[in-house]
Amino acid sequence: MSINYYNTDFFRLQDKTLCIEKITEETIDDIKYLVAYVNRIKTDSFCVECGSTSIVVNSYYVRTIKYLDIAGYNSLIKYNQRRYKCKDCGKTFNEKTNLVERHSTISNLTKVKLLEECRIKQSFKDVGKRLNLSTTTVLNEFKDHLSISRNKLTEILCFDEFKATNGEIKYAFILGDPLSGEIVDILPSRQQEFLYDYFNKVSDEERFNVKYIIDPW
Ligand SMILES: [Zn+2]
Repeated sequence: MSINYYNTDFFRLQDKTLCIEKITEETIDDIKYLVAYVNRIKTDSFCVECGSTSIVVNSYYVRTIKYLDIAGYNSLIKYNQRRYKCKDCGKTFNEKTNLVERHSTISNLTKVKLLEECRIKQSFKDVGKRLNLSTTTVLNEFKDHLSISRNKLTEILCFDEFKATNGEIKYAFILGDPLSGEIVDILPSRQQEFLYDYFNKVSDEERFNVKYIIDPW
């Protein structure tokens, strides 16, 4: 039986070693999805632990991954991922891909989009709605992103906040550089004591370098 391989560009898959075997329309929990069944053409050639080339495919696992919408459709990727076993050291490991992180149920591209959306003033619930993700998922991703190290305070600093509709975080506070548009840091609170503590930990030299604070709204 010949398989009709779709072009990976249709889903804008950045991992070009992946191929789409078929695309179907499926209704899951009353939501219509475009579902792409994806697998990888080439196999990995060495063990990530010991470098041995004696590896075998141990199992396959179909992962369901939330993906960005396509032409107005919510979309999912069903990725048939290989799991290898090294015959020399015995380690088992997943096939490499930049489509999705280990244990994650949303694609890396979706995560990037989620963080971009969080830069716009709107609630976490709204971001979730736009990306067809639960508010909890949006919050968790956002909180993971909080752990990034902050950039240096800039001469002009812009304070921005957005509101969460539920969850532990009520407001998030974003420090940005209005000139470059870069985020300096994202804080989980806008409360005065929190901000006081936060800025107290910054060196005097860096703090005194800030000349203007802008509230964009
Ligand atoms: Zn090995």
